[in-house]
Amino acid sequence: MKKFIVAVLAIFLGLCGYYAWVSRLSWNDFAAFGAHPVLFELPGDDPLARLGVSPGELRGPGSRDAIRYVGKTRYLNNARAVVMHTIDDSTEFVPSCLDAMDKYGIKATVFVSTEVEPILRLWPRLREAIANGHEIGSHSRRHQCQWPDSYFFCFRAYTDYEVSGSRDDILKNTRQPYVWSWAYPCGNCADREFAQRKLARAGYLTARAYPGEEQDLHNLPDLETYDPNPYDARYTQVVQKKGGIARSGRTNVPELNAKFDEVYQRGGIYSFLSHPQWLDFGPAKFYEQHLAYVGHRSDVWYVPMGPLYAYRMVQEKTEVRDLEPKGALARFAVYNRLDPKVFLNSLTLEFRDFRAGVKTVVQSNGKPLVEKTQGATDRWDAEYYRRENQSIFIAVRPNTILEFR
Ligand SMILES: [Zn+2]
Repeated sequence: MKKFIVAVLAIFLGLCGYYAWVSRLSWNDFAAFGAHPVLFELPGDDPLARLGVSPGELRGPGSRDAIRYVGKTRYLNNARAVVMHTIDDSTEFVPSCLDAMDKYGIKATVFVSTEVEPILRLWPRLREAIANGHEIGSHSRRHQCQWPDSYFFCFRAYTDYEVSGSRDDILKNTRQPYVWSWAYPCGNCADREFAQRKLARAGYLTARAYPGEEQDLHNLPDLETYDPNPYDARYTQVVQKKGGIARSGRTNVPELNAKFDEVYQRGGIYSFLSHPQWLDFGPAKFYEQHLAYVGHRSDVWYVPMGPLYAYRMVQEKTEVRDLEPKGALARFAVYNRLDPKVFLNSLTLEFRDFRAGVKTVVQSNGKPLVEKTQGATDRWDAEYYRRENQSIFIAVRPNTILEFR
């Protein structure tokens, strides 16, 4: 009898071990289950001391100052609206899709599954895309799906192997400094809190949903700004043919463009999603016609998803304080407590210049900024200044001293 129990126990443990191995579960998948999310702020940090600013240097704004701080702009470079694109899956169509975007100045997050072929052939083009202002996001390693999903399925699909493993694959194969974004394969598990927490703990700032593909709800989630839950983030609309388990797609160009117009008029964030395998390429086809309509606008900020959600935090958390001028025309401390390895974004500060016809020299941490006279707003970490009537818009990375001379 004893032998029998030992044998049954051994078989049971063996099966558990085999199952864990097949599912790529690790001890950490159980141990870290209830841990708290990350805050992305440096604990106990004193950013002013880090900048070498003593409390005596801080001053209130002077009413007779020649240069006065007005505020942070809503979007980078005081853009009127934002265009953000995401594309999904490791397929042979990704390079053509990137080529099309580059033709019209659109920036996207490319969500790839890092163990799904032809990923090995895609890496060189993905590295080029990063250098050109796109972002690579994680779409897990193996792209596991199940309709409808279950708690058990999600537990298996959201292991460290998939969540941190795919992140590490991207860091290993590219020079992107960080992986900010995740997209839920097939939209599964997006509303499960433990999956959201797991992504946050792995350092992701945002995770894109794909809601209700079975009921065709994925075509027009109609989000016109940031999603209040960045870990179940919807988007405005899809631009693609019917595919997957969906019953329809969205390819009518006047309809697609009208939706963009609506968001643009409200000064919102227009975010659209495509699967490159469900597109037609060429200037006469729906995808490029839509790109041509929304692209190359001087009052739009073109930005991938991760840097956009990072920007929201930077904009929210950054403080600007007047400093004693110390021989300069004006000096300001621009600072936050955010982890500088994650938040590499610039933000735009508006100043008013009450002098007339004088050349401005703006320095950030002692280095002069270049003046931007034209060109699209299609980078998220560039530093420059731009004049518009009495306003000076300064795009700068925080944790710096701004000096006007
Ligand atoms: Zn997918």
